Amino acid sequence: MSYTLVAFHAHPDDEALLTAGTLAKAAATGHRVVLVVATDGALGLTSGAFQDRLGDRRLAELQRSAAAMGIARVIHLGYADSGMVGDVPADPPGSRRFVRATGAARMLADILREEQADVLMSYDAAGGYGHRDHVKVHQVGAEAARLAGTPRVVEATAPRELLTRAVHLIARLRQLPGDFDPEVYERAFTPRDQITHRIDVRGQISAKRAAMRAHASQAAADDGADRTLGKFLQIPRPIYDVVFGREWFRDPAHTGPVSDDIFAGLG
Ligand SMILES: [Zn+2]
Repeated sequence: MSYTLVAFHAHPDDEALLTAGTLAKAAATGHRVVLVVATDGALGLTSGAFQDRLGDRRLAELQRSAAAMGIARVIHLGYADSGMVGDVPADPPGSRRFVRATGAARMLADILREEQADVLMSYDAAGGYGHRDHVKVHQVGAEAARLAGTPRVVEATAPRELLTRAVHLIARLRQLPGDFDPEVYERAFTPRDQITHRIDVRGQISAKRAAMRAHASQAAADDGADRTLGKFLQIPRPIYDVVFGREWFRDPAHTGPVSDDIFAGLG
């Protein structure tokens, strides 16, 4: 049985870290995978070399990441990045910051209907580590699935306890980039006992690394220190495979034991 999965993300590169293995696995096993990003990520931190027309650059990086994962279609909803810190900036000409969006759920619902989506992939209620655009993805995703009658929503997440341990370990072993706050992980993502799906993506590690590498602008910074994505790519391969060889989701409607297949039990 072949299904259609629509994966909704806030910024180009969000698809790579927590969900690339699951998306690549779905595509490789014959399902249609559609990737929707709310924004072009134009406020992402980067080095001066990448600053010019950063949004266009990041959407191009997204296309390369999508190709590495075997994704059938990529859609940008046209919203602007709301940024991570401080007040939300004024809307740029002709666009609206995603946190101020009022029609996003209807736009996404139209895509879900058009694609006859069986599964919507969204974010957990914490918005992962808590970026305001990620929290908004959770809200818009839930509303769009309700409007379109999409049978299943899986919220991309990770076990909070595991991340907290891993972040403290990495912090001891090597210097973390300046924009990385380990404390964030104490209240981020989802407690392990609320996770409903754990996907083995060890067979998709190459595709996942290729997806991460596609986002070159997000691995660079002016002071020469690699940022989070770059740091993760430097982790020795055996450790990387353990840390990134599984992906986690929460389906609020799921009952029973943890599943290893986001499509299991669909009609
Ligand atoms: Zn993001």
